[in-house]
Amino acid sequence: MKLCECEEEISDARYKLGYKTCIECGEKLAKKEIERKRNCIAPAYNKGAYQYIATYEEALDIGR
Ligand SMILES: [Zn+2]
Repeated sequence: MKLCECEEEISDARYKLGYKTCIECGEKLAKKEIERKRNCIAPAYNKGAYQYIATYEEALDIGR
C-alpha cells in the first residue's frame, strides 16, 4: 500500500491510475491547478481586450 505525503493510504487502483496522492490531497491539487489556470488565462483575456481597444482608438485617429 502506497502512502500519500499526508500519510493517508492511496488505494492500489488509484495509484495505478498515476495518482501519487490520496483523494483528499488530489482534490486540493486539482483545485489549485484550476486556480492557477484561471490566473494564467485572465491576463491573456485582458491583454486581448486591451489590444482590441488600442486598435479601435487607432482606427478613430486615422478617421480624423
Ligand atoms: Zn493526502
